[in-house]
Amino acid sequence: MTIGVLALQGAFIEHENALSRLETESFEIRKKSDLNRPMDGLILPGGESTVMGKLLKDLKLFDPLKEMLEGGLPVLGTCAGLILLASHLADSDTVHFGTLPVTVRRNAYGRQLGSFYTENYFEGIGMVPMKFIRAPYIEAAGSSTQILAVVDNRITAVRYKNQLGISFHPELTDNLMIHRYFLNMTGLLNNM
Ligand code: GLN
Repeated sequence: MTIGVLALQGAFIEHENALSRLETESFEIRKKSDLNRPMDGLILPGGESTVMGKLLKDLKLFDPLKEMLEGGLPVLGTCAGLILLASHLADSDTVHFGTLPVTVRRNAYGRQLGSFYTENYFEGIGMVPMKFIRAPYIEAAGSSTQILAVVDNRITAVRYKNQLGISFHPELTDNLMIHRYFLNMTGLLNNM
């Protein structure tokens, strides 16, 4: 049982560390042949979505990953990863995977120059620490998309079928609850 972590750019090592603290194996996805390895779930980390989107295409990772997402592979997208999953970006025609029915606004959210820390309720977990870094937020969610967290009247976490999209960085705090929640979605953990 293992989780693939997209490792082109951004905060991927922190996700790998969180998984290893949960005694879950992971491997890095950097090139197309890495996708030959079976995975039970995928993490799309924070970073720069424009750069990641371009690298995904250049490295021919985009089409096979999109197919896996459409086929139901459980995915956790954090921050830029959420942007990669979104079906719409506000004020932009850009769409990356487009598998998560939400409209996401980039770089639009934050109390202090776009970065801040708070603790907030997360549906199904309770209070969790949330670190926002030049974070996007979810401006609108499809009717069958479950809203899991709202901070300052902005949607910051959603679930739709196999996809968990989060505008903050659970991998940058010590709290492992969101990674546990995701592993539960993959069926790797039977209890939280
Ligand atoms: N603003 C970044 C983007 O548009 C996301 C920020 C982050 O991942 N911390 O890709």
